[in-house]
Amino acid sequence: MYDVKSLKAEEFINHEEILETLDYTEKNKDNRELIEKILEKAAPKKTGRGVECAGLSHREASVLLACEDPEIKEKIFDLAKRIKEAFYGNRIVMFAPLYLSNYCVNQCVYCPYHLKNKEIPRRKLTQEEIRKEVIALQDMGHKRLAIECGEDPVNNPIEYVLECIHTIYSSKPKNGAIRRVTVNIAATTVENFRKLKEAEIGTYILFQETYHKESYEKLHPAGPKHDYAYHTEAMDRAMEGGIDDVGLGVLFGLEMYRYEFAGLLMHAEHLEAVHGVGPHTISIPRVKKASDIDPSVFDNGIDDDTFAKIIACIRIAVPYTGMIISTRESEECREKVLELGISQISGASRTSVGGYAGYSPEERPHDTEQFDVSDQRSLDEVVKWLMDAGHIPSFCTACYRAGRTGDRFMALCKVGQIQNCCHPNALMTLQEYLTDYASPETKKIGEALIAKEIENVPNEKTKQTALKYLQEIREGGKRDFRF
Ligand code: SAM
Repeated sequence: MYDVKSLKAEEFINHEEILETLDYTEKNKDNRELIEKILEKAAPKKTGRGVECAGLSHREASVLLACEDPEIKEKIFDLAKRIKEAFYGNRIVMFAPLYLSNYCVNQCVYCPYHLKNKEIPRRKLTQEEIRKEVIALQDMGHKRLAIECGEDPVNNPIEYVLECIHTIYSSKPKNGAIRRVTVNIAATTVENFRKLKEAEIGTYILFQETYHKESYEKLHPAGPKHDYAYHTEAMDRAMEGGIDDVGLGVLFGLEMYRYEFAGLLMHAEHLEAVHGVGPHTISIPRVKKASDIDPSVFDNGIDDDTFAKIIACIRIAVPYTGMIISTRESEECREKVLELGISQISGASRTSVGGYAGYSPEERPHDTEQFDVSDQRSLDEVVKWLMDAGHIPSFCTACYRAGRTGDRFMALCKVGQIQNCCHPNALMTLQEYLTDYASPETKKIGEALIAKEIENVPNEKTKQTALKYLQEIREGGKRDFRF
């Protein structure tokens, strides 16, 4: 039976409830009156505390996703843009993945790291190699990494991951520093989550891959990841272990997207109901070509239009959650979806183990690559492209370092303090990037953007302090200011 507060996977992601939701959406997808009401409910509203959004239930959001009326679709896109603008403004946070090891004992049929793939060499970085990777990433300008690792208790035990995190945080040559490490490793125990929390990780990310239990079991035929309940309940254990910020995701293409969409929102509702805080981020990867993997064998691939609509509907349903898109997607696709709700993107990514150090921007090793990267531009090109399109590339990591995690971050969003906090933080970290790493052209565009955008800090005192800090970064050699 469906129970949002249950701690059992099959009760909070309840198959019958999803089927009933899909049935309800089929019956109501042309019900204009209902759809207008849903759009009105989700619209940003001015309250005594600032601007707030009510969000939508999985049923309501599923009706929007199912509706095919072009006029309504435009309204959905417009509303998603307004919500993005209200809570995330034009800031886009930058990060890069760092692959630690591709040893894996699982058999995920869509992933080239699967145990039986003999085409790829297996590799695990030593601490010295990690230091080199981190320096290469810092030399591009990155401040935020997402570490990625196959599941292998012998080759990649939790002690290895913890040691890697320590190495990453302690490698600080020149002005470089990785200030936030997001962790994307397999579902683990409460005790291990506690250790990750003590190692001061940012977000714990785990993609559900699919919420459809029967498909999940077929797609993960063996290995620890086969256990649907253990995987699906991982976020509850992470929160029990003290991790406030967790990131959800579906690997689109594996199952019917409407089923996944309802499941994803039910998972977000569950976290909110049980822990009082929803997901910090939602990722929307699509299956890509990779060694021993042909994405066309999965029947549920989605086109760019549907992909954009899913992003817009997630934005509307969970307005305060960050949304991440990776270099799996092309420049054109990323450009289209940025304004619909994306708040974080990766740049200059390498998905191979040891893909950064020792390679020029044009060279990329393919032997241990996890999947094909569509957007292959350098970080400088991505930063410039974002600014040309009116976005502010941000290297900010302030919130979790200032203890604004979980519901405290959500509270900041809700009371509209973002413009006085995230906005100057984004500009100051962009200034660090321009001063330390940017090409002359990017620097010129960036300096002009900062001069214009600083005027959008509403609080005069904050604005004056930010101006002083910007000057100290530019001319005083100082770094790491934050509000
Ligand atoms: N081993 C951990 C796990 O299984 O959750 C996390 C690391 S895994 C390298 C990161 C993610 O890559 C997976 O959760 C999956 O969604 C994604 N992935 C795997 N194969 C992919 C493919 N062919 N195309 C796109 N993404 C893929």
